[in-house]
Amino acid sequence: MPLDSALYLRRRARQETRLVEPNQGGRLRVVLAYPNTYGVGMSNLGMHTIYRLFNDHPNVCCERSFLPDNHEIEEYRRRGTPLMTVESQRPVSDADVIAFSASFENDYVNVVRMLTLANLPTRAAHRDVTHPIIIMGGATVSINPEPVAPFLDLCCVGEGEGLVGPLIESILGEADGKKTGDSSKSLTDGDLPTRAALLRSLATLPGFYVPSLYEPRYDQTSPSGYPTFTGLTPQDGAPPRVTKVRAVFEGPETVASTAILTPETEFGDRAMIEVARGCTKGCRYCWVGYNILPFRVHTVDDVLAAAERWLPTTQRVGLVATALLDHPDIEAIATSLRERGLQVFSPSLIISTLREPLLRSVVESGQRSITIAPEAGSDRMRELIMKKITNAEILEKTRMIFRAGVLNLKNYVIIGLPGETEADLQALVNLCTAMREIMIEESRHRGRIGTITLSVNCLIPKPATPFQWAKQIRPSEYASKLRWLRRRLAKVPNVAIEAMSPRSSEIQALTSRGDRRVADLIELWADTGSWRQAVRTWEERGGSVDHFAFRALQPSDPLPWDHLRTGASSAALGNQWRKALGGNVNAAA
Ligand code: SF4
Repeated sequence: MPLDSALYLRRRARQETRLVEPNQGGRLRVVLAYPNTYGVGMSNLGMHTIYRLFNDHPNVCCERSFLPDNHEIEEYRRRGTPLMTVESQRPVSDADVIAFSASFENDYVNVVRMLTLANLPTRAAHRDVTHPIIIMGGATVSINPEPVAPFLDLCCVGEGEGLVGPLIESILGEADGKKTGDSSKSLTDGDLPTRAALLRSLATLPGFYVPSLYEPRYDQTSPSGYPTFTGLTPQDGAPPRVTKVRAVFEGPETVASTAILTPETEFGDRAMIEVARGCTKGCRYCWVGYNILPFRVHTVDDVLAAAERWLPTTQRVGLVATALLDHPDIEAIATSLRERGLQVFSPSLIISTLREPLLRSVVESGQRSITIAPEAGSDRMRELIMKKITNAEILEKTRMIFRAGVLNLKNYVIIGLPGETEADLQALVNLCTAMREIMIEESRHRGRIGTITLSVNCLIPKPATPFQWAKQIRPSEYASKLRWLRRRLAKVPNVAIEAMSPRSSEIQALTSRGDRRVADLIELWADTGSWRQAVRTWEERGGSVDHFAFRALQPSDPLPWDHLRTGASSAALGNQWRKALGGNVNAAA
């Protein structure tokens, strides 16, 4: 018999061990919403960080809400139950603020689904002061919020640590200054000027983007027949550019770490601790290297203090950073944690900086699988994307990995890179085959042979990277390259292949590179539950997948994310793009 939705949430809450509790007396009621299921959301360190930041404020009560699992959604619909929070099972729509934390564009559709389940209008233009303020922050909207802009009252551009404080102070300050009469009223009981004034004043602060204060312009005479985006016109005193806000790493309280342990996450009983943020490498397809700037590290003492908060609840610590091994004291951190009896894990390592001491630490802690990202099979392709490692060096590191006692090795790779040929794909097959031979040589004496996994992604030319002007390959071409790879690798034992689906490559292209017109498609997708059907209807109504996803852009083209200042300048990105193409930007077409 299906469980009542509230009971289901209560059971889930009881399984949790919390370092942070919502302050139920807080004046400002915030729901931190993750647009995916509980297990996915609670595996996201950003979610834990924002939860702690909100609840650290004495006047805020922040609870969480997630997209219900499929069987739960049926139950919500059947009983007509509105979407609820995990902690108190209150309706999400009772909050003053619903703050979505999104890390992946594929989750945008779930923002619409969650607003619908909460019985809230999905478009900002259809909401009024009786509704919560809908906010979104996170990595993807910090580089291009436009595909979801029509759903949002406010978008946070940058790192939560620098945004949550000013946001709370502005909301509480505006509420105190403008409300008359009953001080126990929540913000949504306020009058219209309060909401509008709040958004106008937030728009003047760094890191806050109010989509309704920017009017998009399109060129209706575009030769393709589909109106081309030409820019956003700021209104009501909104600034022409929104500058990203960054976190300051100083003291143990600034270390992002797990706030709640629950068995339902990818990491189980491991407390995840961020030791560094950003990356110094600058691979040309990767937004981290061009937007999470500068590279920042936490001190050994601050990381240890963050880990000790979880003692004795767990002895297992996961170290998190995109460039973990670029931390100058990473070995000292791992050694100190182990001296305190903690087991140390690391989800993913950058291969060029991989060193034996850390590898030994993670293996001695029981970790048997390592993930690295060679990204391409040929040195030529790696040079083009500026991934500075050769096949010879990768194979040397592969030997180090298996010699240290690792059982399985997963490799992230990208296909569909500019100028890629069959020889580059063959190089991937050769690299995998050579890795497998090393694995066999180094593992044979242990009597157990693991698996080399190739995790294949299609290149999505992400905003705010040098590849933002590149043309993405079509799903059919991507599917055919995948088939080719699968056929070749099927003959190699102990090698597995997992891949982004062709459909997902199209979704990501549109939702990461689109402008506000893509919001109609996202809404159709949420309504129909079928991406294919949504695309068909959207194109019948005049939308164009080709325009957003499969078109090469010129550096002079206005881009939907031009109004954000998130990292490297457009000139610096253009310079890298020209270098990638050997000076010939027309080669991209
Ligand atoms: S792909 Fe990895 S190594 Fe390259 S810039 Fe991004 S985070 Fe750094």
